[in-house]
This record gives sequence, structure tokens and C-alpha cells, in this order.
Amino acid sequence: MNKYNDLPQEEIVEMMNDMISKGFTCYLKWVCEKCGKRATCNTPNVFFTEGLIHEDCGHTSYPTKFGLMVMKMMKGKRENAN
Ligand SMILES: [Zn+2]
Repeated sequence: MNKYNDLPQEEIVEMMNDMISKGFTCYLKWVCEKCGKRATCNTPNVFFTEGLIHEDCGHTSYPTKFGLMVMKMMKGKRENAN
């Protein structure tokens, strides 16, 4: 148990797919098992099952529940990614 309203894997994956299909960018969030801080994944739109590294302390967690940070891309502000 933690203080965040985190969801199990299948619900988070479903939510991510839904958000991505609507044009949102999703970042996985979890609570670091070592330092107890809230951590956010640097890679968008990816769900990791093989452990998540908290960059602040370097610890790899294997959470069972996850949160989601959802961001909307600004139209016309996208940079060319060639
Ligand atoms: Zn940590």
C-alpha cells in the first residue's frame, strides 16, 4: 500500500493504450522501493515489466502497482525528428 492511487499492471496498460490512441504522451510512475520517493520513467509510452530504475538513487524496483503521468503534445510545437 502507498498513498498514491496506483493501479495494477493490466489497468495501467489499458489506460496507457487509450491515452496514446488519443494523442497523449504517457510516462510511467511508481514508488521507489529503496528510498520511497515517487519516480517517473524518462521514456514515454513504454511499460516496463523488467524492473524500473529510479535515477535519483539508482535502485531498480519491481513494482506491482503503477501510476501514470499524462501529457498533451502542443499542436504545431512538435520538432522535426529526422
Ligand atoms: Zn529511489
